[in-house]
Amino acid sequence: ETTRRIHELIARQAAQRGQAPGLIDGDGRVLSFAEYLAAIEEMAGLLRDRGVVGGDRVLIVAENCAATALAIFAASALDAIAVPVNARMTGPELSRIVAHCEPRAILFTCHVSPEARAHAEGAGAAQVATATADIAVASGPAGASDPVEAGPGQVAVILYTTGTTGDPKGVMLTHANLLFAGASSARMRAMVPEDRIYGALPLTHVFGLASMLMAGASCGAAVQLETRFAPDRLLAALKDGATVLPAVPQMHALLMKHTASLGLERLEGAKLRYVSSGAAPLDPAWKRKAEAFYGLPLQNGYGMTESTAGVSGTRNAIGDPDISVGPALPGLEIRIDPTASDAEGVGEIHTRGPHVMKGYYRNAQATAQVIDADGWLRTGDLGKIDAEGRLHVVGRCKELIIRSGFNVYPPEVEAALNDHPCVVQAAVIGRARGGNEEVLAFVQCIDPAPDPATLKAHVSERLSSYKRPSKILIVDRLPAAATGKILKHKLLGTFADRLAALDAEE
Ligand code: ATP
Ligand code: MG
Repeated sequence: ETTRRIHELIARQAAQRGQAPGLIDGDGRVLSFAEYLAAIEEMAGLLRDRGVVGGDRVLIVAENCAATALAIFAASALDAIAVPVNARMTGPELSRIVAHCEPRAILFTCHVSPEARAHAEGAGAAQVATATADIAVASGPAGASDPVEAGPGQVAVILYTTGTTGDPKGVMLTHANLLFAGASSARMRAMVPEDRIYGALPLTHVFGLASMLMAGASCGAAVQLETRFAPDRLLAALKDGATVLPAVPQMHALLMKHTASLGLERLEGAKLRYVSSGAAPLDPAWKRKAEAFYGLPLQNGYGMTESTAGVSGTRNAIGDPDISVGPALPGLEIRIDPTASDAEGVGEIHTRGPHVMKGYYRNAQATAQVIDADGWLRTGDLGKIDAEGRLHVVGRCKELIIRSGFNVYPPEVEAALNDHPCVVQAAVIGRARGGNEEVLAFVQCIDPAPDPATLKAHVSERLSSYKRPSKILIVDRLPAAATGKILKHKLLGTFADRLAALDAEE
């Protein structure tokens, strides 16, 4: 029989392997698939008691804990729409989302973070003790219920995008989208029920949702949730038997920094068998270092919220110098905008298939701008497809820097900086100045930080002159999203004073 709803996956696993571990909470508590299913049913009952019916939005102010996973599946069981948002967002950010999606119920998870507690208090939420999780629930503004579709085209989840390039938009992902993404992710990594996925990616982000929660539910593997990413916790989990590690590049970079400080060159005595990187450009220098440490290839995957994560992924052997994001995943298509690409074949990446979102919630106009009549999604990313059919992402359309008529792709400049042994991570953006665009670099370094002049000399050996940053700022930390993704649109504002001081020196 065909699966129509995402929670049916857990029901199936409970029937087939009820006693096997399904979900491991941040505190180490294990839920078997049978307990997982029972907890979802309990949570669904609780939401039903609050008046939630099909087509209602259920906002989940989510920490990375079991309650978030349970609430997402509980919404599915009621034909309601789960809207998981990061508990660490600010009050005004949360209010904007409440006003936009008008949830009937707002569920607050385990209250580990002070922000989550403050949000729950502010909303006058009532504490509820369930068998598996301490949660709090409040009523929302309760806009009209959306129409419910009987088939898998029903919306399961609304995810607000990272907001790297502007205001977050609510991406509607259907049950079909998520079922496809879970199966595709599990297949890609040849996952079996004995696997244990280390879950440090946020469940509020599409990469965590697809590569952890949906992949685990799809193949019957356990998902071990981590409430807050920390490199020492990751190292401990790897030594303790995690087999699959989906991560963003920043997590690998932080782990490498941590293990270097411990003098640990190689991971030993671990069962790890699959390591991936996605959601942001993978730096070749980090890839080499990480592969040497893990003793495994680091697979690079490309996707976005609008494509339910996975669009393409590599299947490389260790040490492969390939820096592409691999070929299209089975069952979907990719192309470079046929109407506009440059002499090297670089143009906007398009993708089409069962992974493409239904649209932006309550924003038909923005939807029409990114999905055309033939179903192609315009990704907003620039790339090319090589002779082997592998996709190369060179940057984002919006972040392309045009300097004196030449194209500068920020990831290439970032890679040159990251190649320096003292650099933890670099972020490069363009800034309009005197009718031209200048290249600015913001660099986080290990202690003691090198001189900006040293870094300038370092990039001069690697980049032609028009690509070199005119200013390099060494910073303590870079503004980042919950995934660790750098929020580039915040750089100019965050470091305005220091930039002004540099400008004055010119
Ligand atoms: P917003 O759309 O709100 O501005 P965002 O695009 O950062 O934010 P996400 O959907 O989280 O939100 O991120 C998807 C984007 O991340 C892709 O469009 C692409 O630019 C980038 N990306 C994802 N994976 C990779 C990868 N492997 N290599 C390079 N870039 C990647
Ligand atoms: Mg985007």
